[in-house]
Amino acid sequence: MAVTIINGKEVAGLIQDELAVKVTELREKGVKPCLATLLVGEDPASQVYIGQKQKACERLGILPKHQTLSATTTEAELLSIIEGLNNNPKINGILVQLPLPEHINSVKVLDAISPQKDVDGFHPFNVGKFFTEKSFSDMVDKGLFLPCTPYGIMELLKRYDVPVRGADVVVVGRSNIVGKPIALLLLAADATVTVCHSRTKNLKEVCQRADIIIAAIGKPKFVTADMVKEGVVVIDVGVNRLPEGLVGDVDFVNVSQKASAITPVPGGVGPMTITMLMANTIMAARNQAGI
Ligand code: NDP
Repeated sequence: MAVTIINGKEVAGLIQDELAVKVTELREKGVKPCLATLLVGEDPASQVYIGQKQKACERLGILPKHQTLSATTTEAELLSIIEGLNNNPKINGILVQLPLPEHINSVKVLDAISPQKDVDGFHPFNVGKFFTEKSFSDMVDKGLFLPCTPYGIMELLKRYDVPVRGADVVVVGRSNIVGKPIALLLLAADATVTVCHSRTKNLKEVCQRADIIIAAIGKPKFVTADMVKEGVVVIDVGVNRLPEGLVGDVDFVNVSQKASAITPVPGGVGPMTITMLMANTIMAARNQAGI
């Protein structure tokens, strides 16, 4: 069976074209969506992610307002900057690039962002909102801020017609950013979800039962061909920098021999994360303008 390569770059491009139209419509009504990004320190990977987000903003007509703060910025200083952005009516969305330096409590910082400007979807108010919602389509229809990577994965599955209802999905990883929220979104889309982590027993056997595997581990080529069944759909969230270049959490070359569909790294989930951030920013601008 030929494997389908799930082209996140292409899907992201299509969604961005749709979003650009929405930005034009907002601008015609005098609303100029604006995303504030904050980076503390000079972590090279974070600089790349911020650059990609700024580029996407520019492509869509969203105003990017970026500040790089020194690595010695205190928590109090960062909280005060966030307060200023919360109170600035020209700023629609606020994104603090993670990870933050160790001396700053990231939970406290994320909690300080106004829920109305929380375009990353990490504020407990927004997490609570989608936690209590029963259906994925209701979450989208009601305009909740969904966390960008899980939201992007749901869009990829939808646009490639991957059946989710009733499917056995194994999520490997239980972070607040990827593993936990994607499990909740899939559950709300009627999948049967198993969440695995570093203490899971018989991981291989659990994965072998999966119709869909979501790999969000942070370990290069961790999911190997012997762990998956024929015809599995594999979504590889991992981004690992090796001397050979960027690789995912899945052994792409060998797993793709058995999979019916698989995302590559790069060009799979990554572009979708940025695109859903743009979607959330536009939604924030529309909500704040009361449109
Ligand atoms: P975290 O480090 O926060 O979480 C990793 C998870 O993997 C943990 O739940 C951990 O389990 C689990 N894990 C670690 N080792 C094993 C193991 N041997 N067996 C089973 N589970 C294991 O990572 P993130 O969720 O933040 O990110 C995961 C990956 O996705 C990273 O490579 C990151 O760079 C990438 N990423 C990519 C994005 C994109 O847009 N493409 C966006 C966000 C992340 P435990 O909880 O028990 O420790």
